[in-house]
Amino acid sequence: MATTQHLQLLAPLSGVLVPLEQVPDPVFSSRVIGDGLCIDPTSQTLCAPLAGVVSNVQDSGHAVSITDDNGVQVLMHIGLDTVNLAGQGFSRLVSEGQRVEAGQPLIEFDADYIAVHARSLLTLLLVVSGEPFTWRVAGNALVDSGQPLLQLEVGTPTSTAMPEEEGEALFSKPVMLPNANGLHARPAAVFAQAAKGFKASICLHKRQASANAKSLVAVMALQTAQGDALQVSAVGVDAEAAIKALAELLASGCGEAGAAPVAGEPAVAVAAVTDTLLRGVCASAGSAFGQVVQVTEQALEIAESAANPAAERASLKRALVQAAEALQVLRDQAGSTAQGEIFQAHQELLEDPSLLEQAQALIAEGKSAAFAWNSATHATAELFKSLNGTLLAERALDLEDVGQRVLRLILGVREDAWALPERAILIAGQLTPSQTAGLDPRKVLGFATVGGGATSHVAILARALGLPAICGLPAQALALANGTQVLLDADRGELHLQPAPALIEQLQATRLQQQQRQREEREQSGLPAMTRDGHHIEVTANIASLAEAEQAMELGGEGVGLLRSEFLYQDRSVAPSHEDQVATYSAIAGALGPARNLVVRTLDVGGDKPLAYVPMEAETNPFLGMRGVRLCLERPQLLREQFRAILASAGLARLHIMLPMVSQLSELRQARRILEDEAQALGIEALPKLGIMVEVPSAALLADLFAPEVDFFSIGTNDLTQYTLAMDRDHPRLASQADSFHPAVLRLIASTVKAAHAHDKWVGVCGALASEVLAVPLLLGLGVDELSVSVPLIPAIKASVREVELSQCQALAGRILGLESAEQVREALLQHRQATQAPSPVLEN
Ligand code: PEP
Ligand code: MG
Repeated sequence: MATTQHLQLLAPLSGVLVPLEQVPDPVFSSRVIGDGLCIDPTSQTLCAPLAGVVSNVQDSGHAVSITDDNGVQVLMHIGLDTVNLAGQGFSRLVSEGQRVEAGQPLIEFDADYIAVHARSLLTLLLVVSGEPFTWRVAGNALVDSGQPLLQLEVGTPTSTAMPEEEGEALFSKPVMLPNANGLHARPAAVFAQAAKGFKASICLHKRQASANAKSLVAVMALQTAQGDALQVSAVGVDAEAAIKALAELLASGCGEAGAAPVAGEPAVAVAAVTDTLLRGVCASAGSAFGQVVQVTEQALEIAESAANPAAERASLKRALVQAAEALQVLRDQAGSTAQGEIFQAHQELLEDPSLLEQAQALIAEGKSAAFAWNSATHATAELFKSLNGTLLAERALDLEDVGQRVLRLILGVREDAWALPERAILIAGQLTPSQTAGLDPRKVLGFATVGGGATSHVAILARALGLPAICGLPAQALALANGTQVLLDADRGELHLQPAPALIEQLQATRLQQQQRQREEREQSGLPAMTRDGHHIEVTANIASLAEAEQAMELGGEGVGLLRSEFLYQDRSVAPSHEDQVATYSAIAGALGPARNLVVRTLDVGGDKPLAYVPMEAETNPFLGMRGVRLCLERPQLLREQFRAILASAGLARLHIMLPMVSQLSELRQARRILEDEAQALGIEALPKLGIMVEVPSAALLADLFAPEVDFFSIGTNDLTQYTLAMDRDHPRLASQADSFHPAVLRLIASTVKAAHAHDKWVGVCGALASEVLAVPLLLGLGVDELSVSVPLIPAIKASVREVELSQCQALAGRILGLESAEQVREALLQHRQATQAPSPVLEN
């Protein structure tokens, strides 16, 4: 029989006691997580209220749990909604598994920062293992850190260990976690509470790791993140009901507002591998028939501490040098291609001062080189991911990739070449750029991933290797058995399981036709884009690098209609020098030559495009905030420096400068004045052409007023669609509705062209609509003069222009402007194509 002992809990902070029921957050005030106390802090170091082992410290540093030898578990949570700070303002002083003494400092925090950036500083201390307690102080007292506060009655030790499983466990289908910050305290508490409502022993699984689903701390300790594929297993009388209810709860975000299901994933875990079709999005076009090979990650063992910091520093240095050398070999093999640039970016990450500083600081504290490097890269990658930008999420993947490369070198772990069977179609949660670049196309026919995006580096590499690939598959793809025969139809973003022979034949025939057509288009890509009735359309390229400029020229590009300059230095943490910028613009202009247009868009930073060396404050609505020309006019030095560097390449190509996100005439006028000043300072008399992007409805609606003051317009249909339809361009559930074929967008294009032509100014389209073969007759009919398209599509778009007659296109566009939906527009265009041409073998997607 267990005897009752008494255990004192000390105040983890100094401050004012606040009754739990007054905490303005029901998950705490309702005591669903556990009973305890709340302190409004006046000190900034959270200390251990009891001796024990750190059973969980959240990566973001805002919460920590301690379990003592009797199984008493105490959770401390600093502030409310502080998970959203993603680690900013917190420094962890302990790590998981570490034994701590009562009163030992656990987390330091910046009270000023948190007070300004989070909902509240109120800090909770909760006894989550449920022991009863009595108070040692009364009311709203002022308490000092280390002062005894609660006396617990400790009986039979409680356990958060994995439940004993007797009998056969039932497993739920994998569920992709929708919560932006994973299962942090609030959703974890809801989940654990729901699990406690069942008699069965229940576990939550993340890859190889498992946790007792009824233990809040164990669930938090899984350190889940958005998009993780989780499974619930249960043994016992109500196991079936438990896994159903808990999987549904996970899929719905465990009551957390704003937790939307992850792209492509149904709200509730679905019948897994009994489906015959899994859908994602195309990352690299093409198709393949082969067998499933699941890619599993090799777990690395990392010792936390090391005795000799000097030896650890030397080990890190050696690994960094070796990694840089290995990346140089890959770069040399790739040459001046997109692949080469990715490995260059990886090399730059190896020199990132902030990463190196973080790692060195940890080594100085007695950590091993492996632990220090891993913590630094992981923390920075998590920070990138938490900032909610597509590009930053992709940079996080690059960082994790580089992180693993160096880590393996420190640990002396060789990366085993995958032993792959023939005709492999790889299935993975996520592939890293290094893994992708190392794929052997003789064995690997394609791949499909749950994570990743169509614009990621992995997608770019897949296209460079000519491997069909899809991303954004539901997590159930990870449950497919190795050897399953699958048909990867990347053009349609589909993975067919056990496909019928007729489907395989049909796809292979389509593929052959497609390849034949692409060959013909490539052969004729040097011909001008002239309609059958003799009207010339300029087909130019959207580029973000010198490599793409060169490739565009090879593929018949007639110039560059959009150089996205913000991408030139996206991996830099310090601003490029004037010389660097001049060299880049001059090299690109030189690749085009004096007879071709080069349209350089000034920095379009903000929105979904952060730039590390242009720090910006977090915004609630970044797409409606400091973006594009607004930001540059707020920081005119940025614009001046860029103008100066662009002007230095005048003469090497037909130079055009384009301002992004213009919404007011005053922005154009201010920017023109700065350009004139800089040109004058350089003694340049003939200013380059200055134009604006039309991507905000106000610019389209005022096109008649802008037209006399610009040299050209280029319509950014991506943003124009987003702002006209009020639909986030990256919103996973609005992807099919945020359609640039919407008549409202088309009417804005039509009126812009009319206003521009009335003043003899030309109009291009550089948004993704211009790269759609289906849109070609429509845009021509609306009077667009230039189509600036994604580089690989130059031959196809030129070929499409050569197939149409302008007079027919004009009649078609007139009809289409009267339609009421994007679906009707697409249908009308398909019908037009059928009526005017031989059926095209190219798949639309
Ligand atoms: C656009 O908005 O259509 C455009 C071309 O600009 P970006 O996609 O770079 O925002
Ligand atoms: Mg845009």
